[in-house]
Amino acid sequence: MADKKPQDPEELQKELMEFMKKMAASSPVEPLPKGAPSGDDTEEERKKKKHEILKFDLKPKEIKKHLDRYVIKQEEAKRVFSTTICDHYNHIRICRDSAKCTDYVKQNVVMLGPTGVGKTYLIKIIADMIGVPFVKADATKFSETGYVGQDVDDLARDLVHKADGDVELAQYGIIYVDEIDKIASTAQTQVRDVSGAGVQRGLLKLMEDTEIPLRSPQDIQSQIQSLADMQRTGKVTKPMINTKHMLFIVSGAFVGLSEIVAKRLKKSMIGFTQETVSPEEERNLLRLSRTDDFVQFGYEPEFIGRLPVHVVCDHLTDEDLYQILKSSEGSLVKQYAQALKAYGIELKIEDRALWTIAKQASQEKTGARGLVTVFEKVFRNIKYELPSTHIKEFVLTPDIVANPGKGLKVILKTEYQAKQEEILEEIHSFEKDFLSKNALKIAFDEPARLAIVDQVLEGALKTYEFLNQTLSNYSYGLKLIQQRTQKKEFILPKEAISNPNGLLDQWIKEVYE
Ligand code: ADP
Repeated sequence: MADKKPQDPEELQKELMEFMKKMAASSPVEPLPKGAPSGDDTEEERKKKKHEILKFDLKPKEIKKHLDRYVIKQEEAKRVFSTTICDHYNHIRICRDSAKCTDYVKQNVVMLGPTGVGKTYLIKIIADMIGVPFVKADATKFSETGYVGQDVDDLARDLVHKADGDVELAQYGIIYVDEIDKIASTAQTQVRDVSGAGVQRGLLKLMEDTEIPLRSPQDIQSQIQSLADMQRTGKVTKPMINTKHMLFIVSGAFVGLSEIVAKRLKKSMIGFTQETVSPEEERNLLRLSRTDDFVQFGYEPEFIGRLPVHVVCDHLTDEDLYQILKSSEGSLVKQYAQALKAYGIELKIEDRALWTIAKQASQEKTGARGLVTVFEKVFRNIKYELPSTHIKEFVLTPDIVANPGKGLKVILKTEYQAKQEEILEEIHSFEKDFLSKNALKIAFDEPARLAIVDQVLEGALKTYEFLNQTLSNYSYGLKLIQQRTQKKEFILPKEAISNPNGLLDQWIKEVYE
């Protein structure tokens, strides 16, 4: 390495061109806009989706009804979104039908609310319902130029990936940026971010009617692909995506915004500190927030001006978490029931157990995400142990939720005892059958019985199969002994199970000696 001479720039360029030629000849990648598919939709399905978007005819109440099946609470958000979505996609339809777009202020949305209350869930359900691609990102991962963090323009490109490379479908997509409060750039914010204003400008540009190159200038692979295309076709191709019809939603907890609103309302700051304002009061203050409050919070006026719809999300109470488990169609209960069903185990959850889970989850203070944490904790060992038992039904009780380890032990012990009793009865029947078939009475002693139970529980054979196999020589062997000794009753010890033929040989030998 040390004695390698620096390469002549001309030579380097020649080598690079050679490399490009090879790439162009061998590249299996389709030129954009097909792009790199990442979803599962076929061309036919995407066509159908586009057709449905362009014929959009849903009413706000239909969307709300659909959301109600999955999202608990969040009445305001569900109503506002239902209308916003209808306005947005009706506008796109009108634009396409008349080929002439009238003036329209895009109804981009700011959602204010804590984590885990259903913001992402709600948008995802809407996007699925109307068949548009949806991407989500945290504002904190972007940087102004894209050199350090990600480039905001990547959001538009990600939509294309989500749409399986279908640029037209991607242009009707929904972009959701969370943690937007972290890119506000004044002392009001908890985290000061010097590049916040730059990211705001990037997002602002995206929210306007902008053309974004489909090939990221920062993505070396894309650039090599461009060069390879150029080599192959002799033309410079620069595929673009337009952001005019994309819907933007941003969200954040906006800690401190309610105080700004309170101040503006000329209320005394006493009584409006974070510690003493009740969540209900805080939400009501947030509902009164205006553009100038957001500007004071640290946003560029143009940026916040592009987000005219403000929605305040509810905190989720114990009761709400219970309702999510009880009645949301997307509830975790279904997921866990399905996981156990794969092993033939039916899951039943007592209503009181749902309450216990909801209460525990609420203490996590992460909204409905707490439910995932509690479920995981409760089911971790249960999902590991139960599939290897004979249990066909598992009932989750409040006691098991409160102490899953102890609960599981009790279940496994009960299961062992039930199974043990069943096997002991089968052993008894086997003894009776042996008597009627061979006119010889056999009886296993206690250690032998327990050994049979253990072997049957651990092995794949049923009790009868196991005993027939283990004692296959005993009918003849014991008859032989009986003929010599007139003995008609035999007590079989543990050895008859652990070393059946050895024991039989020994007995026969003793008789003959
Ligand atoms: P965030 O508000 O932080 O975006 P999410 O929407 O990602 O929270 O919520 C996480 C998960 O919790 C969702 O996938 C969903 O299963 C559940 N969840 C959250 N809020 C609700 C709700 N209001 N109704 C039903 N399920 C919810």
